[in-house]
Amino acid sequence: MTTSVLPAANGHHGLAAHEVVLLLETDAHHGLTNQEASERLARYGPNTLPPAKGAGLLMRILSQFHNPLIYVLIASGVITAALGEYVDSSVIFGVVIVNAIIGFIQESKAEAALEGLRSMAQTQATVIRDGHRRTIASDDLVPGDLVLLEAGDKVPADLRLTRLAELRINESALTGESVPVTKDEVVLPEAIPVADRHNMAYSGTLVTTGSGAGIVIATGAETELGQIHRLVGAAQVLDTPLTQKLAGFSKILTVGILALAAATFAVGLIRGYDAVDTFTAAVALAVGAIPEGLPAAVTITLAIGVARMARRRAVIRRLPAVETLGGTTVICSDKTGTLTENQMTVRIVWTPGGAYDVTGSGYAPDGDLHNAAGTEVSVDADQALRWSLLTGGACNDAGLTQEDGRWGITGDPTEGAMLVVAGKAGLGADQVKTLLPRVATIPFSSERQYMATLHHDTTSGAAHGQVLLAKGGVERMLELSGSQMDADGTVQPVDREAVLQAAADLAGQGLRVLATAMRPAAGPDDFDEDGLPGSMVLTGLQAMLDPPRAAATTAVAACHTAGIKVKMITGDHAATATAIAAQVGLLPRSDATTGMVLTGADLAALPAEDFPDAVDRATVFARVSPEQKLRLVEALQARGHVVAMTGDGVNDAPALRQAGIGVAMGASGTEVAKDAADMVLTDDDFATIEAAVEEGRGVFDNLTKFITWTLPTNIGEGLVILAAIMFGAALPILPTQILWINMTTAVALGLMLAFEPKEPGIMTRPPREPDQPLLTRALMVRILLVSALLVAGSWWLFEFERTHGASLAEARTAAMNVFVVVEAFYLFSCRSLTHSAWSIGLFSNRWIIVGVTVQAIGQIAITYLPAMNTLFGTAPIGGDVWLRILGIAVAASLVVAVDKRLRRPA
Ligand code: ADP
Ligand code: MG
Repeated sequence: MTTSVLPAANGHHGLAAHEVVLLLETDAHHGLTNQEASERLARYGPNTLPPAKGAGLLMRILSQFHNPLIYVLIASGVITAALGEYVDSSVIFGVVIVNAIIGFIQESKAEAALEGLRSMAQTQATVIRDGHRRTIASDDLVPGDLVLLEAGDKVPADLRLTRLAELRINESALTGESVPVTKDEVVLPEAIPVADRHNMAYSGTLVTTGSGAGIVIATGAETELGQIHRLVGAAQVLDTPLTQKLAGFSKILTVGILALAAATFAVGLIRGYDAVDTFTAAVALAVGAIPEGLPAAVTITLAIGVARMARRRAVIRRLPAVETLGGTTVICSDKTGTLTENQMTVRIVWTPGGAYDVTGSGYAPDGDLHNAAGTEVSVDADQALRWSLLTGGACNDAGLTQEDGRWGITGDPTEGAMLVVAGKAGLGADQVKTLLPRVATIPFSSERQYMATLHHDTTSGAAHGQVLLAKGGVERMLELSGSQMDADGTVQPVDREAVLQAAADLAGQGLRVLATAMRPAAGPDDFDEDGLPGSMVLTGLQAMLDPPRAAATTAVAACHTAGIKVKMITGDHAATATAIAAQVGLLPRSDATTGMVLTGADLAALPAEDFPDAVDRATVFARVSPEQKLRLVEALQARGHVVAMTGDGVNDAPALRQAGIGVAMGASGTEVAKDAADMVLTDDDFATIEAAVEEGRGVFDNLTKFITWTLPTNIGEGLVILAAIMFGAALPILPTQILWINMTTAVALGLMLAFEPKEPGIMTRPPREPDQPLLTRALMVRILLVSALLVAGSWWLFEFERTHGASLAEARTAAMNVFVVVEAFYLFSCRSLTHSAWSIGLFSNRWIIVGVTVQAIGQIAITYLPAMNTLFGTAPIGGDVWLRILGIAVAASLVVAVDKRLRRPA
């Protein structure tokens, strides 16, 4: 019966909504049946974009050759062949091919790691199926599904909108236009362009305000986004500022080294040396001095960092974030849900006529209300209490659920808590809905700081008229309320001071306080935001407990030890924020907090020139609006900080983008926030940010270690060759041998540093200065020192063997082994930049042991296998030579150890 379902036939915008419903054989109210949905899923496949095909396999392998160094190698291979040196030529070509294969494998691995992360940050969609509202993975959407949209959602497929309320969508992902488009549902002419199809919502675009519903007309590759995707083939970008900087550095280096090699060749010819030998020497210089493995190693190290962070529940959405994280100097964190559990329980309800303690725990609606004397009270004892609880229950979009006897909530925990307390007082959610059927809604937003709803009022028996209910932040609700309700239901002018004092007392205990208010309404025309101020009757305050997360206190302390400032930015009351801040160790538990707590109003009143200073000094920012978050980030950045900033709402997106690290909440955050973020916390926990910073520092360390380890080889090789040509001596190492060293040691030894565990004390040192170069002076000195040791050691042994009767091939084999063995020893030193190789445990990184073993087998092979002797111009050497090589390596290691010891920061 469903064969006529036609996804993606263009022109759904030209049909009326009910025609689309007919065409797609669905139901405008009940959606698809579950069975129909799974049949369609089998037929149309999942709602995912096909993996970016990118370039084909062959192209990707070929692209590995697109590198100046490889051009140099290929050119020298060709010339060497032309000169009749076929063995050398084939080794060079062999190396070129091996290099391409290794590069290809590394790149694929890094890409696969990043690809895997995408599935972790999966998008959810809200649908109606079989008449029930359900949250499903957006991958499971099918044509005909009825999808609900609300502010903060990412549109999960192409939809023909059927119902909407003030729906505005940011379609920049599709059209590049960043101003949100207002949607409506009128039928449009066929020929209208995509950007003007206001009755459609397109996959990948973001809902900024309002809400709506629509029928899925296309999924996956059939969506507009899918078609663009097919055109561009959005490949994963592996570039970061650091890799770009290094790539640029390598390019300049390559050019410089080529010039040096050309000059060497010219000098050799002028001096009348053999042309072939001189050319070989120049090639050797070029291939030796260029650090070809560097960019690949950086990418791999970053990819490993991404994987480690994912294991600690931080999903990196943009690779550069891995680098930036390590340098974070300020973390700006949300309070609710990040530093606290976001498990709200109303503890106290205050009314103008009394105060009531609430018993019971969790979300189960079991518990009682007690008055100050400790006696149980019913809602009828205090009319304000009754209205406050009714308001909390009715002006509410959350739901209570019961699964296997365990109570839970759907929606916002703040609202869930208000449902629970109403239930405890006998005003269950279903009953409230019957008593007060809702007519209209002004939704809660962080700017508005309240939510208001219009209801038919049947509470006093016969239906009579309508009532307006609102709940929100206390200061805000006082603006709306001109009067207050007494216990007997009479209405008096509001006593602002008393309400504020009660709120401050509750907030001072760390409780989150919301005020409730009501008023009779004439009808829908009476329900207007501008008409609210001063008109409502304040009924009470509901104070809820949201305990700090267990791990937050330790994580805050860890950040402080690591020299990272932690600031709390919240929309909540200053007193609540201050109390929670003290509980997690952000503020001293004394009153000495002058200047450390600022409210949104304080910020607005600050003169621009004092703003950055005050912001840098303060720790808690309360009643802050999302726009102010952006200003906060900018001010901190102006002070030279690297800022990590959390956010969850639609309006947080600009601040998340501006921050060095935008952090979104995986569980409670909107898709819009996730989209703008660099990192998503799958558990919303502050401790996860701290863990990610720690991993980020580790990654940066490992990069530094690799570079410190690898550069001496290149510099040493370059210098040895240069010296040989200058003195007109025989080359101590041949170009093919240099290639062998560079290729094998980079993979078998150097890359293993990427697996190095984090150094002890990584979170007890201050953050790296934002403009600090990768290599400090001390490290540069060490690199030059090791380069010099390599030159001296290999040169000395080469000469020593020659004067003691060794053949050229034997002496070269000895010199080459000096390079490899010294680098292998030096590898252990590079495992820590400051600690000695001994103190971190010689075997604490198994990969290093594996690598050294593999390299050792390789060295034995190249020294003793006849075939490799022919290929690389090597020859077997005796045990006494190995002893001298080991002696040199030990001596070099001692020198490096002494250098490290002397430079260790006290
Ligand atoms: P945060 O997440 O930083 O704690 P929010 O922006 O969520 O702050 O909330 C700010 C204030 O808005 C709260 O203190 C509360 O008074 C009010 N508020 C929060 N959620 C709701 C809601 N669902 N309905 C009405 N008011 C709310
Ligand atoms: Mg919130």
